[in-house]
Amino acid sequence: MSLHKLTLVELQKQFKAGEVAATEIARAYFLRISHVEPKVKAFVTQTKESALLQAEALDKKLKEWRKTKPLTGMPLAITDNICTEGVHTTCSSRMLQNFIPPYDATTVAKLRAQEYILLGKTNLDEFAMGSSTENSAFGPSRNPWNVHCVPGGSSGGSAAAVAAEECVAALGSDTGGSIRQPAAFCGVVGLKPTYGRVSRYGLVAFASSLDQIGPITRDVSDAAFLLQSIAGHDPMDSTSVDRSVPDYMKALQKRDLKALKIGVPVEFFTEGLDPDVEQAVRAAIGELKNLGAEIREIRLPSTDAAVAVYYVIATAEASSNLARFDGVKFGFRAKETKDLLELYMKTRQEGFGPEVKRRIMLGTYVLSAGYYDAYYGKAQAVRTMVCQDFSAAFQEVDVIVTPATPTPAFKLGEKSEDPLQMYLSDLFTLSVNLAGLPAIALPCGFRKTGLPICVQLIGRAFEEETVLRAAHAYEQSTQWHLKKPMIR
Ligand code: GLN
Repeated sequence: MSLHKLTLVELQKQFKAGEVAATEIARAYFLRISHVEPKVKAFVTQTKESALLQAEALDKKLKEWRKTKPLTGMPLAITDNICTEGVHTTCSSRMLQNFIPPYDATTVAKLRAQEYILLGKTNLDEFAMGSSTENSAFGPSRNPWNVHCVPGGSSGGSAAAVAAEECVAALGSDTGGSIRQPAAFCGVVGLKPTYGRVSRYGLVAFASSLDQIGPITRDVSDAAFLLQSIAGHDPMDSTSVDRSVPDYMKALQKRDLKALKIGVPVEFFTEGLDPDVEQAVRAAIGELKNLGAEIREIRLPSTDAAVAVYYVIATAEASSNLARFDGVKFGFRAKETKDLLELYMKTRQEGFGPEVKRRIMLGTYVLSAGYYDAYYGKAQAVRTMVCQDFSAAFQEVDVIVTPATPTPAFKLGEKSEDPLQMYLSDLFTLSVNLAGLPAIALPCGFRKTGLPICVQLIGRAFEEETVLRAAHAYEQSTQWHLKKPMIR
């Protein structure tokens, strides 16, 4: 079987046993990339030269003394808002087009310590703001299942790269759904860990109370495997939590779901939900029941308000986080300006794209003296209600199941003129970030047109094991994750 067909866990096993060399793996992947990348456009930067050099050095070293760590030699892609030392990190923005970070994000440092191989940096919506990767300053990525459709966003490049087998697995960032929504559109697995489980040091901040880094993979075992390597406390990120990291692979072993209570929130099955998606998700719920889980209807009454709350809080935090891009400290600087004020203004005018500007304006408005209480203060109060809804639900059930997205992938350009429509594609993922919970999206069906459909499982804070276990049991009793797009 071609190397690019293997899952991370399978590839790792072969590599560990010495059956395949790091250079063979890296070459196989760059060959695959050269075939499909012109159609998919998942990458902003490819690091072929350094990857091959690194792989050669690794093979040489291992010849003398074969000792590998879990990700040694594994070919990964990383979303381009996560800092990689010496490798461009653009956030798909003109503002950071030439930015080369002098340090690694903690997640990347952890991968590097295991001698992983970086294949490249993947495309995203500018500064992770969007749901389709169409907001990238370098042009959109495509959905490998249908190149006329978007791969979702913001981590659309990573999801497309995993689906098109251009990397064995990838990292993405999720502020309101940017791991799970593109995973759902591309028919792969996306896991947003609990807020605080994985360090965000070196992730270019969008909305700091919501941002989280997590894996995008081909199946649930791979997600557990990759999470294991990036999870844990980091003194460099004061929001990361000092709690021991459980053995996620071990958690997958228990296949039957007896004693697991699964809640189905009625608010997630209302108008706006595509009938094919509803049908596939209801079938998945049926399968979870067959596996022994007890299914209960639950309520999350504040769901309605989640989109509004998210777009007040996320834009407020973004307006403050993005203030640093002023032409002085980072990245792009406008030319021929007469004074400092004009330098700031022209730099931001020319460096940021329209969606980022829209968010900065919205955020500045909701934080302004006259409107702070009415918007920002109110949003924080409603955010608390969203959290309380989840807490109450988790008194009754262990896992909550919902559709990952209201519809399958949409066509390129279909929603670009209507930001509100675009915002609604994260309807089912946003509230999870507001509450800081872990959640996974995984395939549960296909539309007749061939586009994948995903279900979302949400867990209690720091209970990734439970979410992974339920997801894995479901996945293993179905065949959805084995279907691959026909792209060559
Ligand atoms: N699509 C949402 C937004 O535009 C979420 C983005 C994200 O999770 N980074 O804000």
